[in-house]
Amino acid sequence: MQLLDGKAISSQIKSEIKVEVENWVASGGKKPHLAAILVGQDGASETYVASKIRSCEEIGFTSTLLKFDASITEAELLDAVASLNNNADVDGFIVQLPLPKHISENTIMEAVDPKKDVDGFHPINVGRMCKGLPAYISATPFGILEMLIRAGVETSGKHCVVIGRSQIVGLPMSILMQRNDYPGNCTVTITHSKTPNLKEVCQTADILVAALGRPEFVTADYVQEGAVVIDVGISRVEDATKKSGFAIKGDVNFADVAPKTSYITPVPGGVGLMTICGLLTNTLKAARKEIYG
Ligand code: NAP
Repeated sequence: MQLLDGKAISSQIKSEIKVEVENWVASGGKKPHLAAILVGQDGASETYVASKIRSCEEIGFTSTLLKFDASITEAELLDAVASLNNNADVDGFIVQLPLPKHISENTIMEAVDPKKDVDGFHPINVGRMCKGLPAYISATPFGILEMLIRAGVETSGKHCVVIGRSQIVGLPMSILMQRNDYPGNCTVTITHSKTPNLKEVCQTADILVAALGRPEFVTADYVQEGAVVIDVGISRVEDATKKSGFAIKGDVNFADVAPKTSYITPVPGGVGLMTICGLLTNTLKAARKEIYG
């Protein structure tokens, strides 16, 4: 079993981006600028956004955080999105999800200028990705692909099973793994909560991507010998032994599953760290106008 070490790979990627930013600025380019909108006081969202902002500082980006109370109306949030769309200094921005129930996430996502949509959630970027056109690929699938590339994992002709069909992870992951490219050229099965024979389907996976949000759901009996297992899940589970009162768990029972795998991602220290790299890479592309000119 080999660990796909998100900490090591993401640190390497950040160093590479830092050098690219230095070269870009030295050649007269503007420092890439990532902005983030955070609504409400969800602990996990605050942690994710803080980590994104910290990463920007590490690699020489400018960053801006716009924080709003959970009582903000949809119209007010649309105004904030419009102000970032129109701010020429901001190259890309994200609206941290989830949003409060009274705000439509789809409406907000569609209001983001696709040229600044570094999360890759706008229908134009999703559509372009499906057609194989240059697009911002959403950060988590992007990070997973990068892990597979850097570890040299063979994907062509493999059966990839994705658990979960969310717009931000499962769906784009399934599209990317079937495209005629590397990583890709898999036969893909996408599964969800209504899949009746989930365990049997997972047992046929050469590459298993677990993105369902159920802590330690995938146990050794779901996994065939030698499979590559990518654990996207991040759940907070009560744990009295921790100072914080909770532990972070993935969707895979790591201790049970790891001995059967050829490669596996840990949680924490796996896909989560790679996701930030996806966002930073997209922002650098936005600053250099690589996707939309
Ligand atoms: P989501 O929107 O809640 O989607 C979960 C998907 O899993 C749905 O398609 C759901 O099926 C399916 N599902 C739920 N229970 C299932 C079950 N028992 N059997 C089979 N399928 C089941 O979640 P998400 O946003 O994709 O996130 C998934 C997990 O990844 C969460 O733990 C989240 O925190 C984590 N995450 C991590 C990163 C990262 O950077 N590492 C980024 C994003 C998300 P239905 O469609 O039928 O409801």
